[in-house]
Amino acid sequence: MGELQVDKTEFTTKLKTLLAGETPVFPSEATTLEYAQTLDAQDELRHLRDQFIIPTRRFIKKKALDGTIPGVTTTTTNGTVNGNADDDTPVVYFVGNSLGAQPKAVRRHLEAHLETWASIGVNGHFNALSNSPLTSWQDLAADCALKSTNLVGAASPSEIVIMNSLTTNLHLLMASFYRPTATRHKILLEWRPFPSDWYAIQSQISWHGFDPETSMVEIQPSSSSSSPNLYLPTSAILAAIDAHADSAALLLLPGIQYYTGQLFDMRRITAYAQARGIVVGWDLAHAAGNVELALHDWNVDFAVWCTYKYINAGPGAIAGAFIHSRHGGVEFDHATNRHVFRPRLSGWYGNDKSVRFNMDKTFQPTPGAAGFQLSNPSAVDLASLSAALSVFNMTDMAALRAKSVVITAYAEFLLDELLAAAAAGETEEKPAFSIITPRNPAERGAQLSILLWAGLLERVSKALAEEGIMFDARKPDVIRIAPVPMYCTFEDVWRFVEVFRGAISA
Ligand SMILES: *Cc1c(COP(=O)(O)O)cnc(C)c1O
Repeated sequence: MGELQVDKTEFTTKLKTLLAGETPVFPSEATTLEYAQTLDAQDELRHLRDQFIIPTRRFIKKKALDGTIPGVTTTTTNGTVNGNADDDTPVVYFVGNSLGAQPKAVRRHLEAHLETWASIGVNGHFNALSNSPLTSWQDLAADCALKSTNLVGAASPSEIVIMNSLTTNLHLLMASFYRPTATRHKILLEWRPFPSDWYAIQSQISWHGFDPETSMVEIQPSSSSSSPNLYLPTSAILAAIDAHADSAALLLLPGIQYYTGQLFDMRRITAYAQARGIVVGWDLAHAAGNVELALHDWNVDFAVWCTYKYINAGPGAIAGAFIHSRHGGVEFDHATNRHVFRPRLSGWYGNDKSVRFNMDKTFQPTPGAAGFQLSNPSAVDLASLSAALSVFNMTDMAALRAKSVVITAYAEFLLDELLAAAAAGETEEKPAFSIITPRNPAERGAQLSILLWAGLLERVSKALAEEGIMFDARKPDVIRIAPVPMYCTFEDVWRFVEVFRGAISA
């Protein structure tokens, strides 16, 4: 891996061409606020922050609705007259790995939806009003699939379906892609999966009449790697695939591990498992909208993702699924006079639009991923998602990833400076933490997970919260921060580390 000096030149432009394999390197002056501000001034994506509502500290303390919206309401009744000027500072929003910040477009899209519904009622199903950012309700899911194509690297929107939520989609796609037999019945998964994925896999195995004790194979990190032993090397995954090559039906892994932030080599792992007859699915909850994906080219069988983390569509918003084009075909078999397609659990919205409203008993799925839909999707949900995706379509994942690599490395650099200062005895600080996210930028997304010395979590959490820093705590000792490139600044990173420094040395 090469190195990229992050000086006061145009780093984003440079990174667009140099990204592959480069590790950002910062000069010693990078510890100053001025340096952070210089990087912000060069950031070609800085205008995207204006597309979001970043609450101020005063808004974060709100206890009752009062009709005010940060950045939208200009005059408020409870201004800063008697308050603290700090209260008007935007918070540091480092929780896009949990719930992305609100795009301003969401309000416009929801208002457009409400006006359409109020004005033309049921006719909104098939008609769109001019001046509206929305299509007709019937076309909204397809419109969101179209806007998601580059985000996940589909060959065309027909490989994407927007429906339900993540765990539901995991079940629906396992219903189609996990077809256990007496000899091939295992599902390979990682050792610390997000609980919902665990429950989904466990219940699928039981539901098919197999025993999770024998059919559920947790891939463990190799015992030789250094502690804290959370890193799951590709070699351990490939070894597990080999060990279960004849008995595994499905490999189901996260693109990015939610706890450590480790990004897996999806292309290599997919090819390796498929070469051994194993179907491959990916849970992209933490990868979609965070890192570049090429699901079609990687030949991934299926993938699922939620849209409320890095995609910013709002809490519990409608989710996405990818089904490779080679699994979505619908053929007419003249011999049997039937449509032939991959087995699935079906509903009327998977039925082809040309025949959907005939209300008869023949199921003829829409070709592609859309044929996996069950129900009429929520227009409110889709309006919100289409707003969030409209912001992604102002840029591209390559540009976002370029900034992401640098801003995350900057956070790592400043944290490492704290450790170095403590180690050199320049201060009385003890090494109060370690970073459990992989050091290699190619093996992580925007998130850094920080393992704190036992007993520090409460103190650190309190200090960060008091200074308007939003982060995520995982008991007993981990905090996760995500300097999301779309709306976070280098100054945010600098401010976070300043507060963090104070908290661990207090
Ligand atoms: C966030 C997340 C989920 C959440 O599932 P929902 O069905 O959207 O509630 C599931 N799995 C992983 C890996 C996640 O990161």
